[in-house]
Amino acid sequence: MREKPVVSRFAPSPTGYMHIGNLRTALYSYLIARHGGGKFILRIEDTDRERFVEGATDVIIRTLATTGITYDEGPGVGGEHGPYVQSERKPIYMEYAKKLVDLGAAYYCFCTKERLEQLHEEDATGGYDRHCRDLSPEEVEKNLAEGKPFVIRQKMPLTGTTSYTDSVFGEISVENEELQDQILMKADGYPTYNFCHVVDDYLMGVTHVVRGSEYLTSTPKYVLLYDAYGWERPTYVHLPLLMGKGADGTISKLSKRHGAVSFEDLVADGYLPEAIVNYIALLGWAPKGEMAETEFFTLPELEAAFDIAGVNKSPSVFDFDKLLWFNGEYIKKLDFEHFRRLALPFLKTPLPAGVDTDAALRLLQGRIGKLGEVEEKCAFFRALPEYEPDLFENKKNKVTLDLAKQVLEAALPVLSAVSAWNNDTLYTALLSVAELLACKSGAVMWAVRISVSGMSVTPGGATEIMTVVGREESLARIRIALEKL
Ligand code: GLU
Repeated sequence: MREKPVVSRFAPSPTGYMHIGNLRTALYSYLIARHGGGKFILRIEDTDRERFVEGATDVIIRTLATTGITYDEGPGVGGEHGPYVQSERKPIYMEYAKKLVDLGAAYYCFCTKERLEQLHEEDATGGYDRHCRDLSPEEVEKNLAEGKPFVIRQKMPLTGTTSYTDSVFGEISVENEELQDQILMKADGYPTYNFCHVVDDYLMGVTHVVRGSEYLTSTPKYVLLYDAYGWERPTYVHLPLLMGKGADGTISKLSKRHGAVSFEDLVADGYLPEAIVNYIALLGWAPKGEMAETEFFTLPELEAAFDIAGVNKSPSVFDFDKLLWFNGEYIKKLDFEHFRRLALPFLKTPLPAGVDTDAALRLLQGRIGKLGEVEEKCAFFRALPEYEPDLFENKKNKVTLDLAKQVLEAALPVLSAVSAWNNDTLYTALLSVAELLACKSGAVMWAVRISVSGMSVTPGGATEIMTVVGREESLARIRIALEKL
């Protein structure tokens, strides 16, 4: 038999922002589809009305668009299996639930809220006591005719085991006696996730169910549904847990307290979408063979290289330092115009008139991890920071306060006389100062750099900084330094 083409899906619940873990699930599912030359579907799972957050679907759609994760079917795109928002599919689920009752794998339950609360009070962990499991067809008919509210529950086998093979975690089994007769259709006529995702995956022809490992142990309940309907089970690909590293080094499930973990927050902080995608592709997957050493992947390269066999089951740790490094590498590789366009919005206000903004940004491009550092790194171009004169002292370059003073006194007239104010002319001018004072050029560069920046660590050297802030400001800063000395 020819293998069916891959159909995978991303089925988020619109309950808030797009967590980096959700994005990884979307990415892996997308890559499995694209790698297999198949189809990728977006489905919005919004049947849990209590957790529904207005606008969350837009965030999901926007995030996928920004990252380049395209889908062949889904909201806004359409397709032969629509609608793709579960709340718009309500009648389908009732029809399939009734079918399941007819097949003997589900039943109507008329237990009142009071009765269930009573049960819970008597035994908080015991679950539902299957009171309605064996109602006679006549009783069911009568209750329905009377308009009694009902739910539909899955009729779990009471003995035996249920197993399935996960592509990542291997064989998973549960004893059926541990399974609760879970609710499939709620009293409000909405299905539970446990039910509708199975119906939808079947109706949408999904061959690969890719999702977080929190669903690993509930999946036996879902395969029982496939079996009851006589549907072919899909291939399951459960992804390893995503962990975060706390300030104290402890590892726990990735959450807000580890930092910005929503895609849009990371972008707002100046991480590039391509860098985020590249980094999270490696959180749970590793290339094999020729590509084993490769770290940098564009999305099309990932589509070609990604393979389920490379997904590992051990938890992956989201490391902000690593992401920052990745991002810095991506920033370095941007052509300057592109970098400029991305970086400018990160300046709170334009740099002062005398400052050469392009020159400033060129200095920063190779020296930042994220665009969010641009404003802070530009602060000393805007205004000379407060500093103490002993900042001039430097052992390595043998600079004393006295030497610094001599350097700056000598440099001031030389720099004032420079005809064209650029890196080369300034460099030559400063070399002549070193010659004049018979000291090392390093000492001159040091003293001048401190005077024009007010900081010991700067992006760029003395001449580069002077080029950015311009002649007048540079000379003014040197005069301020001389007053301090
Ligand atoms: N709506 C579920 C979630 O967001 C989807 C799980 C699945 O992919 O089946 O967790």
